[in-house]
Amino acid sequence: MSNQIKVAIAGAAGRMGKEVVKLVLEDSDLELVAAVNRSQEGTDAGTLVGLPACGIKLTNDLELALVETKPDVLVDFTTPQFAYPNTALAVSHGVRPVVGTTGFTPEQIEELDKQCQSKGLGGLIAPNFSIGAILMMKFAAQAAKYFPHLEIMEFHGDQKLDAPSGTAIKTAELIAQNREEIRQGNPKEEETIEGARGGYYNGFRIHSVRLPGVFAQQEVIFGGFGQTLKIRHDSYERAGYMPGVKMAIEKVMNYTGMVYGFDHFIE
Ligand code: NAD
Repeated sequence: MSNQIKVAIAGAAGRMGKEVVKLVLEDSDLELVAAVNRSQEGTDAGTLVGLPACGIKLTNDLELALVETKPDVLVDFTTPQFAYPNTALAVSHGVRPVVGTTGFTPEQIEELDKQCQSKGLGGLIAPNFSIGAILMMKFAAQAAKYFPHLEIMEFHGDQKLDAPSGTAIKTAELIAQNREEIRQGNPKEEETIEGARGGYYNGFRIHSVRLPGVFAQQEVIFGGFGQTLKIRHDSYERAGYMPGVKMAIEKVMNYTGMVYGFDHFIE
């Protein structure tokens, strides 16, 4: 019997999904069993990513794909609107979800955790699979103990749907664990243009820059007496997320419950 992990991919024809298709087809520890996408039905998943045909055709029916192919893991890189129902569907069919799609609410994560616990399944929702970005978040959380005044700047392409990015929210949550809530800046400050000071979180601000040509970057800027500290991570291409996705596919096989954040896997 094969020890390969059977993987289905939702959003397989998307920018991230195609990288996952390549990863799974080229990695002998993994087996692609289904590729689901809203468009391009019938296209071979291999040819879609510039590899030889693999015999797995794109389908737009996730439930049927889960029932017919019985994957171990569903990797979801779709849209914030569909990722929650897709993930709930996977769990209901006994399939472990590895979700890169951003935009989940804490209530949705809690509900999915309950469902995973009751089915005895492991799952992961990770706003960022990049190991460098995780280290940036961890270093920022550590710095916040000594530099409680900070702002987060995140930069993404102009077609991104959600703001701030999932990575920025996750960073803010980690920082909040290490820092008392303090309201920064001048209490009398007023915005003459609405939104100029960015989004408010726990006393600090998050700024979302959206521009064509930008991929994914984040800088956390700390201000102290006579000094600033900047912790920055730059992603240049989607392939950089794949070592993290592979690690997640393997990890979810071995625990129960929904984990939020790839940082839990990076010590
Ligand atoms: P994309 O628009 O290129 O791809 C999304 C794909 O999902 C499309 O091909 C679309 O047809 C398909 N799709 C939409 N709804 C679907 C459904 N219900 N079932 C099946 N397929 C469906 O987007 P992208 O750039 O690949 O990003 C996808 C998501 O991943 C976004 O939320 C983005 O923010 C997130 N993202 C996460 C990471 C990470 O490391 N976690 C990295 C980059 C992007």
